Amino acid sequence: MDGGSSEDVVGKEGFSVGKYRSPGVKHHFSLLEKLRDLVVGGTEFKEKVEEFFGVGDDVVLKRHLEKLPVYEDKVGKQVVEVYSHVPFSNWGQSVHNTPKYTFLPTTTTGVQNIVLFAQESDLRVRCGGYRHSWANIFGETGEIFISFVGLEQVTTLPDPMSIQPGNYTGQGVPDLKTIELKEHTTEGKRLCRVGVAVTNEDFRRWAIHNGTWALPVDVILVEVTIGGVNGPICHGAGRRHKTISDYVRRIEYVDCNGKLQMVEDEKWIRTAAGAFGLLGVVTHITFELDEMTYAVMEPRKVDIGLAIPPLSKHDIPPELRADWWDDENADEMIEKANVEFERRAQDDYYSEWFWFTYQQRAWINTWNTIPLPPRSSPPPANFHPEYPTPSQTFLQWLEGWLGGVLTSHPFFNALPGFWQAQLLATMGMAALPPRFGEDETPTIVTPLCNALHFRRGVQNMRVRDMEVQIPIPGKKSRSDGGQEEEVPDWSTVRRAWWDAINLTYATARESDNPLDPETPMRLTLELRIMGGSDILLAPQRGNRHGTASIEVLSLPDAVADEEWSVFCQRLADRWGKLAPEGRVRPHWAKEWEGLRFGGMGTGDGGVGRGAREWAREVAYKDALVEWRGVVEEMGRSMGWGLGEVERRFGGGVMGEVVWGR
Ligand SMILES: Cc1cc2nc3c(=O)[nH]c(=O)nc-3n(C[C@H](O)[C@H](O)[C@H](O)COP(=O)(O)OP(=O)(O)OC[C@H]3O[C@@H](n4cnc5c(N)ncnc54)[C@H](O)[C@@H]3O)c2cc1C
Repeated sequence: MDGGSSEDVVGKEGFSVGKYRSPGVKHHFSLLEKLRDLVVGGTEFKEKVEEFFGVGDDVVLKRHLEKLPVYEDKVGKQVVEVYSHVPFSNWGQSVHNTPKYTFLPTTTTGVQNIVLFAQESDLRVRCGGYRHSWANIFGETGEIFISFVGLEQVTTLPDPMSIQPGNYTGQGVPDLKTIELKEHTTEGKRLCRVGVAVTNEDFRRWAIHNGTWALPVDVILVEVTIGGVNGPICHGAGRRHKTISDYVRRIEYVDCNGKLQMVEDEKWIRTAAGAFGLLGVVTHITFELDEMTYAVMEPRKVDIGLAIPPLSKHDIPPELRADWWDDENADEMIEKANVEFERRAQDDYYSEWFWFTYQQRAWINTWNTIPLPPRSSPPPANFHPEYPTPSQTFLQWLEGWLGGVLTSHPFFNALPGFWQAQLLATMGMAALPPRFGEDETPTIVTPLCNALHFRRGVQNMRVRDMEVQIPIPGKKSRSDGGQEEEVPDWSTVRRAWWDAINLTYATARESDNPLDPETPMRLTLELRIMGGSDILLAPQRGNRHGTASIEVLSLPDAVADEEWSVFCQRLADRWGKLAPEGRVRPHWAKEWEGLRFGGMGTGDGGVGRGAREWAREVAYKDALVEWRGVVEEMGRSMGWGLGEVERRFGGGVMGEVVWGR
């Protein structure tokens, strides 16, 4: 402005869009709102046009529409929506099959009647929500598939669900979409019964609307169903938190005889929550919620060498050595940074680190919570009741969509993987706070459920993902009082993080063509610290000091370039060595079936075992014996046998792991 420096213009405080709501800023955001309305309205408009001209998914689906005598209600008036031979693929497009029938029930009675129909026709029943799992934990060709999300919605990108305005009350909606608050359990805890078709976005809006109760943890993505998140034992972050299934207190499910059953016993819950649909079709899940709190987010971009410091500065690849690397006090800087890392990892309510491939800085997103102030008090400083705001949500959604369009375009895929990664990393880092021109050390105070879902629209871009759960070992330490105690040993986590970074560079250096360095991981390395789990088949079970949930993400083009699976195997081999055999376990919903575990794996020339056999015979050997024992006990009390339950709900990859067939 008038040739002044930025400091002359905005002063020492810097400039933040949120702080100075000038007419120009307001106008800018009002335009975004208009654009969003156009997009949301436009999708509906497009549907109408397509319907009129007889094109589009709706018409394709009409061709498959069936009228089977399977009813949503007890009086036989309303049939369950059902299609025959509609091809299924998951969001990650790693699983494909063609169910004989795809049912879309909205009531518990509907689900019961589907299972009875399956019993009469001797067909297997498997379920799906938003289909965001990469592993083939779904059904197989020729079976019955129950979809808890509409077929057009679940197969169409971009999905406008998260940018459509409105609250979610969980009332006056179909049975499987309800949310009901129930009794208090202890001080600050209350039960909440949720239908399995409720999405994370529905639940987030419900929690904001109700303003008092929230899930303590959740997956970041909002386009998932409650049933889908519980099925494969998903998780959030923070060492004090277990998996989401660990907060389940009651499971209502339809058994192999079409009977509605309820599981409340603690031992049975640990078996039935996180059962992949192998026991039956879950209809409602009762969670124990916490009183709502505010998250105090302080996202930071920090030099990669100091975000999660390596065990030795020589572990930092030359390409990432910043100026401080040559300083004589570099080791002290690493030590100081490590104190900060350990504090965040050990104590913060939520803890997460991102590294976009080849970038000099990592993104740190760890935070704590504060209680809600009394209603009469003013809100805390930097309070954002909606975060991201509707305009920011729309921008993120657009970014995800544009990312999806870009990365599926042949021109983009013709670029060397190295440049794909560089482009996406620049965009990805730029999109995360603090953004260019913003305060370098922002504080954002927002209701807990907004902070858990801090990024929206990510599902508009398809990606690939491998994640493992590494147990954090313990080490002896002396407390301030001089007693010997066992505390988490963070060196394993630091090693796991740098193993991935170093493998990325080693792979690039091994390339024949220096102008096109092989880049299998084209998106991010992500680490979340979390607790253990009491769920029998949870990969985190038994992790007394906590778990490093570490994952790598890439683009489908890295799979087409035949770089991805080799990289995943090599990384799984390295990570597998960081704990005793069978204790580093993959996330059930992510990519694991094609890998080999145990021994050295194929990547380093060893043999290992196929993932299913390894899971059955090594990693979950004892847990599966226990799981089957509890299931047998449940069956005796509920009137079914193991053979029947396996015949109706088993099969596929998970059937092979759990039932051994
Ligand atoms: C972009 C992205 C981000 C993600 N972030 C996280 C994360 O932060 N943390 C994490 O842990 N995971 C994460 N995931 C994985 C994701 O949470 C899981 O794949 C989850 O299962 C997705 O829910 P869904 O509704 O799509 O379920 P689906 O993938 O459709 O189904 C998952 C499983 O649940 C079973 N199931 C579903 N409904 C029922 C039911 N009613 N009864 C019985 N069985 C049922 C299905 O049979 C299937 O085995 C992420 C995935 C993506 C794509």
